[in-house]
Amino acid sequence: MKKQKLNPKSTEFEFFGPIGCTVVMVISPLFLLMQYLICNEEGGCLASPGYVLGKLVDFKSFYSFKAAGMYFGWLIYHVIMWAVVPGPWVAGTRLRNGNYVQYKMNAFRIFLITAGLTLATFLTYGTSPFLAVTQAFPQLVVISITYSAFQSVVLYMHSFTYENNKLLALNGNTGVFVHDFWMGRELNPSVFGLDLKEFFELRPGLMGWAFLNVCFVVKQYALLGYSRVTFSILFVAFCQIGYVADSLYNQAAVLTTMDITTDGFGFMLSFGDISFVPFLYPIQTRYLSMYPQELTGLATVFLLASASLGYYIFRSANCQKNDFRRDPNDPKLAHLKYIKTDTGRNLLISGWWGYASHINYLGDWLLSLSQCLACGFGSPVPYLFAAYFAVLLVHRDSRDDHECSKKYGESWKKYRATVPYRILPYVY
Ligand code: NDP
Repeated sequence: MKKQKLNPKSTEFEFFGPIGCTVVMVISPLFLLMQYLICNEEGGCLASPGYVLGKLVDFKSFYSFKAAGMYFGWLIYHVIMWAVVPGPWVAGTRLRNGNYVQYKMNAFRIFLITAGLTLATFLTYGTSPFLAVTQAFPQLVVISITYSAFQSVVLYMHSFTYENNKLLALNGNTGVFVHDFWMGRELNPSVFGLDLKEFFELRPGLMGWAFLNVCFVVKQYALLGYSRVTFSILFVAFCQIGYVADSLYNQAAVLTTMDITTDGFGFMLSFGDISFVPFLYPIQTRYLSMYPQELTGLATVFLLASASLGYYIFRSANCQKNDFRRDPNDPKLAHLKYIKTDTGRNLLISGWWGYASHINYLGDWLLSLSQCLACGFGSPVPYLFAAYFAVLLVHRDSRDDHECSKKYGESWKKYRATVPYRILPYVY
């Protein structure tokens, strides 16, 4: 009886059900591998289908002990840093069993230490360690996919042990394997106080993305005769490393996101956090490390303006909502209008959240588009990122909309009538 109440069976499918989950589970790793195969130094950027097929057949070349050492070394480094670097412990949102998960707030410190170690490595050993990482890129991609699949299998099996004493995700307990494996069954798996979901969401993956940016800048430096790097690659690396730093600096904000509060730790997050983010997201610096682009003065001004606008929308919208959630009576929010809901949590209908229900996604997407534009128009491949990100954000918006309509009922209908646009005001 208790089990049924605490961990009810999920009655709805996400991602268009088992078939949708299977498709996305197969397509996502393939997409990640393909973005390398269709764009590299050997095959060019857009490589021919013959080249791509040839590479796929030669699958054994994707495994290497050296790359495995790098990958697992990086994971172990982050576990050790999590354990030894001090930081205050902060409670996440209240769980439905009345408990709270505690999280160690040391991610930004670890980021700074890692940045210092990266600089020290460059000054001591020069470019070779960074170039070794870029050379091992395809092997790292395959190892990360293999590891995230393995980790998801272990987590799925683990979710069945002592089921009465743990919380399952409300959207990952349908009893249909592919769906629950993708969505994640267990809400907060942990090992010795280390919450695995938050760990993988913020640390090896996000910092790996930033670190790979550095490696690709170094690679371009080597390509251009160890004399200079282009402004375009510095611009992209600055935006991406800044985005990571910003997320880690605002570590507590991740505790209220859907990933932490709602989704279980399944293949979706496991693969997303430690494969997709570190190896797909630096696609623009990877491209520029092989095909440097010079920007005109006008293009530079345009990119700086669009990236700044994107960041401004993204950060100020997120801050406005976070501040409102933390203290709805904060005097600096007194000018904002909201509608009351039965849950006691109110919904903003003016300010950023009056323009569109996910105006923060617009800022995030604009930021990503400006990084694609910095790659020029020589190849469509860097633009895959903006296309993929648009799909992710539109789908994420529909998932959140569904969750909010369940959470807020009639009040959400009223909210939607007042704020009809979802991401782009007056268009969508
Ligand atoms: P949001 O930060 O947009 O949060 C959505 C939640 O905010 C809702 O579930 C609801 O939760 C609350 N909310 C919605 N409308 C209102 C309102 N009008 N007034 C007050 N509260 C409201 O969602 P995400 O977690 O998806 O995104 C966080 C950030 O992370 C975004 O900027 C996004 O761009 C970024 N992101 C980046 C990704 C990447 O790969 N780079 C991937 C995903 C996200 P409640 O009412 O329960 O508080």
